[in-house]
Amino acid sequence: MVKISSQFDAGNIQVVSAEQPSDIQLLIKHDTQSEFYQWFYFRVQGAADEALTLRFLNAQGAAYPDGWPDYRAAASYDRREWFRVPTRYTEAGELVVEHTPEQGSIYYAYFAPYSYEQHLDLVAAAQQSERCEVLDIGTTLDGRDINLLKIGDDGAHKKHIWVTARQHPGETMAEWFAEGMLGRLLDETDPLSAKLLEQCIFWVVPNMNPDGSVRGHLRTNAAGINLNREWQSPTLKNSPEVYYVRQKMMDTGVDLYLDIHGDEALPCNFIAGQAGSPSVSEQVLAQEEQFKQDLQRVNPDFQTVRGYEPGKFGPETMTIAGFWVGDYFNCPAMTLEMPFKDYDERPDHLAGWSPERSIQLGSSILNPIADWLVTL
Ligand SMILES: [Zn+2]
Repeated sequence: MVKISSQFDAGNIQVVSAEQPSDIQLLIKHDTQSEFYQWFYFRVQGAADEALTLRFLNAQGAAYPDGWPDYRAAASYDRREWFRVPTRYTEAGELVVEHTPEQGSIYYAYFAPYSYEQHLDLVAAAQQSERCEVLDIGTTLDGRDINLLKIGDDGAHKKHIWVTARQHPGETMAEWFAEGMLGRLLDETDPLSAKLLEQCIFWVVPNMNPDGSVRGHLRTNAAGINLNREWQSPTLKNSPEVYYVRQKMMDTGVDLYLDIHGDEALPCNFIAGQAGSPSVSEQVLAQEEQFKQDLQRVNPDFQTVRGYEPGKFGPETMTIAGFWVGDYFNCPAMTLEMPFKDYDERPDHLAGWSPERSIQLGSSILNPIADWLVTL
């Protein structure tokens, strides 16, 4: 008898039928008070050596149906090592996973999860470094702490570099990225980090949306609000996460901003800068372009050929973090996107795009920041 459960941190699935292992029927649940859904994470027990067919009946209506072709679900026995399993998107609009687990208990997820406990561990570990101060800047609607990590000492003429991750909670690769970046910034044997911290202060929010993360949401917070459309006029009622972070940005100033995300559809890493913003200067656009080239040179998982078309966001443009911050502070402000699928030019058949590669990309981001500093 197969049992399916999702009553844990970030769990999301609704079981329609689990009577036949060869025809398990599932629905992905909506984010609370929202139409968005795509994140799933659940446990299957009692199916060792059983050929499972898992049908996601409502895949077609997900937030990004373009995310399903060429996508493979992530699976894990120990919740540490995640591997990809055979997955197809049918003409009928179902996502179908076909897999025979080797062990009696297995987890399936949209991408390797990054749990709230892991998040708290990341923040606690960062505090062990003398370089880092953990600031509490507010509380979410569900009562969780909004933590901001300040890395580097105060000083006149220091540049303020802001990095936010996981406004969209289902984009867990963003927090893996933050972990990689923090690991390098706090590594006292890393000469580049030491040099950067002589000139900069890093302000890092490793998880902008802890409520959505725990609730198993793809895209919104506890009130069903997409935080990355709140930057023009955030409210304490709907979007305290953005409200407090924005306020703190206004206190410190921002010289460079990176907002870290995952993209459902595109099988590559890319940066969307402020091209298409009505107010951005040629000078800032040139800095963003150089930043991308520098990142590509240091990490071949990054590319600059594919990405979003300028103007993609239309009238919503200035409500988006990257555009609002860039406009308000007149600085480079970029949205970095990693794939849920894989980077198709450098595929990893076993793991797809993975926590490990997200961590590596996060570590690499310090190089283009250093390159940018010398041009100022
Ligand atoms: Zn996103």
